[in-house]
Amino acid sequence: MESTKTKCPHCGTANRVPAAATGTPRCGKCHRPLPWIVPAGDDDFAEIAEQASVPVLVDLWATWCRPCLMVSPALEQLATERAGHVKLVKVDVDAAPRTAQRFAVRAVPTLLVLHHGAGLARQAGALPMPELRRWLDDALSSATQKEATG
Ligand SMILES: [Zn+2]
Repeated sequence: MESTKTKCPHCGTANRVPAAATGTPRCGKCHRPLPWIVPAGDDDFAEIAEQASVPVLVDLWATWCRPCLMVSPALEQLATERAGHVKLVKVDVDAAPRTAQRFAVRAVPTLLVLHHGAGLARQAGALPMPELRRWLDDALSSATQKEATG
């Protein structure tokens, strides 16, 4: 299983965070939730994004796309703010053509919120931070409501 190194935003401890896990990652030292930011490709998208226990924010981006590079730090900031409640999965559309085709990506960045593989929200194009945060929170609250009503 692949893992990435993530510095705990609370205590600064470096933690190894798995790409896929049954729960959500927590800091080994202070036990607070860690931001979960993972790249995925065609072969591991299902395991990383669709089998996650928390809603997944999917960033379909491209290396040549300037708005993608601008929105990327905002998404990482949101993943940090909402640690424990969302997983950020970054998909390079040129490296993952089947995933891009499956979600009919016509523009980058395309942002999706998925929960257990079902789409909750979709946004084509970058947004300023306050709107991104509102868009994500709306999607996360609809995920919570679905969970509550079964
Ligand atoms: Zn910590």
